[in-house]
Amino acid sequence: METKLLIGGEFAGGAGADEIILDPATAESIATVPEASGEQVDAAVAAAREAFAGWSQTAPADRAGALLALATAIEENAETLAKLESRNCGKPYERVLEDEIPAVADCFRFFAGAARGAAGSAAGEYLPRHTSMIRRDAVGVVGSIAPWNYPLMMAAWKLAPALAAGNTVVLKPSEQTPLTTLFAARLMADIFPRGVVNVVTGRGETVGAALVDHDGVDMVSLTGDVATGRKILEAASRTLKRTHLELGGKAPVVVFDDADLEAVIEGIRTFGYYNAGQDCTAACRVYAGAKIYDNFVADLASAAASIKLNIPGTESPDIGPLISERQRDRVASFVERAAALKHIEVLTGGSAVSGNGFFYQPTVIAGARQEDEIVRREVFGPVVSVTRFDDTDTAIAWANDSDYGLASSVWTRDISRGMECAARLRYGCTWVNTHFMLVNEMPHGGLKNSGYGKDLSVYALEDYSVVRHVMVAW
Ligand code: NAD
Repeated sequence: METKLLIGGEFAGGAGADEIILDPATAESIATVPEASGEQVDAAVAAAREAFAGWSQTAPADRAGALLALATAIEENAETLAKLESRNCGKPYERVLEDEIPAVADCFRFFAGAARGAAGSAAGEYLPRHTSMIRRDAVGVVGSIAPWNYPLMMAAWKLAPALAAGNTVVLKPSEQTPLTTLFAARLMADIFPRGVVNVVTGRGETVGAALVDHDGVDMVSLTGDVATGRKILEAASRTLKRTHLELGGKAPVVVFDDADLEAVIEGIRTFGYYNAGQDCTAACRVYAGAKIYDNFVADLASAAASIKLNIPGTESPDIGPLISERQRDRVASFVERAAALKHIEVLTGGSAVSGNGFFYQPTVIAGARQEDEIVRREVFGPVVSVTRFDDTDTAIAWANDSDYGLASSVWTRDISRGMECAARLRYGCTWVNTHFMLVNEMPHGGLKNSGYGKDLSVYALEDYSVVRHVMVAW
């Protein structure tokens, strides 16, 4: 198993404290990954700075070539990467192999193409005999900090646009899930010039904080918790770094009385519980029309009860455990507090699964009210709440009444109503009659406490570059 850091094209063991990496499906230790020392973080940033001068001046076609080679290398190692990710996160191997790895390879391919097709304003004379033109140039060294829910995919979302735009990167995976990123570092070391990509492991408060505070880092990109986003903004203010923040979510799912109920149930069974709900776009906060409410909650409860957990030995499992015991306890405490309310009914699930792994039963909470904690706070677990509504205005008002603003969906057979809701919802994304579907061509990112800055699409390429004006007098 790969446990070494990549710094300036060389592999070295971390010189900091050891981090024990667990398989959350069994709670067994699978590796020990020492974190980077302060000197190693400095060395990684220095290597990225040194590489920047060359990499930022390479032709887009050359950067695209490297990204395409990485996509191919990822596909060639798909099974190894999927096994590692499945082990480190406890998720079903097939889900990683069939859902995540192809999306990772496609992300690098998309940005390889996008690197070559930048669009912008035409050059022109805004003063007589002075030609102005716009350039889009790399920002510099990007410190990228990734979360644990989709470790390799989050690394790809950060690396691909940053590298395509000509930046160099120091990437820190989550201390809990570094294994696929460390494996991918081997692939990247063979493809990119020394120092263009560096990977350092370690905890947020040590290695992450050192990157954010580093004078040699020009931009910080985080996918993580809202509280972490706040800390990073505070720390980044000292050096006035650019920041790119993808934070939490609490996606509303508005189900109108005329929706195709079978499709909705199937949709929420998949998109509410995928990755054990450890997804910032999870379909977790349902508002159901009054006429369908009773049938809807009953059907959703049976659908959720049919979800198969990836407990070792289970055939065709749907979802894995929570990432850690701590996360599972956190989920359990949300459900306990909700269940203690008189108006709430836990229709299925509602407890941790016995055994060593950190599994929690897929849970449906009916009768939730807008003011309830379970409706307002991100649980990041396999828990879906359902709230009854009477009219469109109330549904939209409740859906928008959230600190978060990442993703939302509306389910209706009336396309006009779907369009109206899409126009009125204040979320980075609104799906109509689906949820959760992301494509590399379209932006992903939030409003409000969900952060700012876009992943995926040409908008990410813009976020990882700066607009410059060049004027030539003649
Ligand atoms: P987290 O905030 O605890 O950790 C994310 C990363 O930040 C880790 O690498 C961690 O080491 C690092 N970090 C923590 N404290 C830091 C600090 N003070 N300075 C620098 N780095 C620090 O989040 P997590 O628990 O790994 O992931 C779950 C969270 O991520 C959820 O809230 C989820 O909604 C969010 N998320 C958002 C998106 C999105 O696209 N918006 C995608 C996935 C996850």
